[in-house]
Amino acid sequence: MTRFAASMAEHREELVQLDTAIGDGDHGTNMDRGMRKALEKLGAAEQADAGAVLKTVAMALISSVGGAAGPLYGTLLLQMGTALEGKDDVDLETYTAAWRKGVEGVQARGKAEPRDKTMVDALLPALQALERAPDLDSGLQDAASAAERGMLDTIPLIARKGRASYLGERSKDHQDPGATSTYYLCQTAAETLAS
Ligand code: ADP
Ligand code: MG
Repeated sequence: MTRFAASMAEHREELVQLDTAIGDGDHGTNMDRGMRKALEKLGAAEQADAGAVLKTVAMALISSVGGAAGPLYGTLLLQMGTALEGKDDVDLETYTAAWRKGVEGVQARGKAEPRDKTMVDALLPALQALERAPDLDSGLQDAASAAERGMLDTIPLIARKGRASYLGERSKDHQDPGATSTYYLCQTAAETLAS
């Protein structure tokens, strides 16, 4: 989560630019502000386990980010945190189950289907990569590559959910900002957790 916060700070302008093209230009500032808040909360109290860490971040995102992405990332991490509660040793099976819960939560909340041009287009390929992986290390790496492809595959799509959907055809030929931050989340996870 510390590295993801650093990644959101690093990529803030890029995410702002992507969201300026097909939204209201706040995705980078939303994610950066939310993750700064999350780090403050993490520093303020002892965290029992990985599940508690993710839940703390989720609550910070939900309470400090007004846009669509705050509650959606909040749901992702809250569901993952619940699945990882009390787990000391996170293996491929546990991580995959947690990611699955998280993606299901995002889809239940946002009602986005594949190819609607949202973060789901990066989240779901990452899940499928984890489900096929032989071990956690390759799972994390493959999930990051799959999320990157999913992110790039949003470019030709017409948005059917979120603010970008108001543009209809004009949302074509732009990369979805939320799918991009999801790729950075997967990239961070691979860099941090894979050995
Ligand atoms: P807002 O759209 O409220 O300004 P952000 O700019 O922070 O919020 O986030 C925009 C991103 O949120 C989009 O690029 C998209 O990936 C994601 N998003 C929007 N609506 C949905 C939805 N219903 N389901 C999944 N993701 C969504
Ligand atoms: Mg926005």
